[in-house]
Amino acid sequence: MTDRSLPRAARSSLDLIGNTPMVEVTRIDTGPCRLFLKLENQNPGGSIKDRIALSMIEAAEKDGRLTPGGTIIEATAGNTGLGLAQVATVKGFKLILVVPDKMAREKILHLRAMGVDVRITRSDVGKGHPEYYQDMAQTIAQGIPGALYVNQFENPANPLAHQTTTGPEILDQMEGDVDAVVVGVGSGGTLTGLGRFFREASPKTRMILADPVGSILYDYVNTGQYGEAGSWIVEGIGEDFIPDNAQMDLVAKAYAISDRESVETARLLLEKEGILAGSSSGTLLAAALRYCREQTEPKRVVSLVCDTGGKYLTKMFNDMWVAAHGFEERTKHGDLRDLIA
Ligand code: PMP
Repeated sequence: MTDRSLPRAARSSLDLIGNTPMVEVTRIDTGPCRLFLKLENQNPGGSIKDRIALSMIEAAEKDGRLTPGGTIIEATAGNTGLGLAQVATVKGFKLILVVPDKMAREKILHLRAMGVDVRITRSDVGKGHPEYYQDMAQTIAQGIPGALYVNQFENPANPLAHQTTTGPEILDQMEGDVDAVVVGVGSGGTLTGLGRFFREASPKTRMILADPVGSILYDYVNTGQYGEAGSWIVEGIGEDFIPDNAQMDLVAKAYAISDRESVETARLLLEKEGILAGSSSGTLLAAALRYCREQTEPKRVVSLVCDTGGKYLTKMFNDMWVAAHGFEERTKHGDLRDLIA
């Protein structure tokens, strides 16, 4: 074990948000580069979204949009909901989450156990329909005086959390020397916040986008245009529109990663490095490995483990599920050997 001094006991779980550890990838071939992963799964709510939940709620408290005992509303199928629940629980706010009905049972059970009012709605309707989860959240917010509709896609406190915490932490942990940072885009907060921070603090650092095949962002980066979105199984990243919070001109290079490659790479990370990460981390690591192996000179590259793989144990870490999705051949027959150092 590396010797490291431990901080004193925290006053609440919210004080444990951020300051996440960084680990180097040493058992997978990274070409001429050194690749480091920031373990955002070690936030108390289990994901990178704890940071933005805290920042968005504290910004609203500060400017009076949220008062003690008030109600917070968001439309989310995932980690932002868990992050908001984490913060709302400790700070004593009520939380209503509007969730599309395709969401995993584990997540709904987790939220309900935290006292969240989970309203389940249809996932087969689009923007503009009253039962579309974002429209429904807005309607609920309008009916509750003083309620705060968080809206992570447009809320400036989302990218700001990464600009003021995640970015400085990365640069410090990398001793001021970072050539590239590989991120995904869901709301765009990570890309925009880190991109803005590094543009000022370390202009040589390039932002690299990892996008699931089917998302429109890869095409948008390369051509400035996009067509109809497809579908993908990776959770939390990829979009069918450009969120206000996603400043896409910060991206220097983009990779489109298939579901198969994301799943295989997340499993490889667990098998080789002992890190149980979620599906979007598989996408990010796959893009980071491609970027690293394409380099002709040594570079220092950082990516993120966005959330824990614990909530995907019945999905991508389950061989039956993997087989049912047609990923079986390569995972069973060990074609991954060419990826291993
Ligand atoms: N990975 C996971 C698992 C996520 O839940 C999210 C957020 N949707 C992201 C990555 C992307 O982060 P951002 O919203 O900052 O673009």
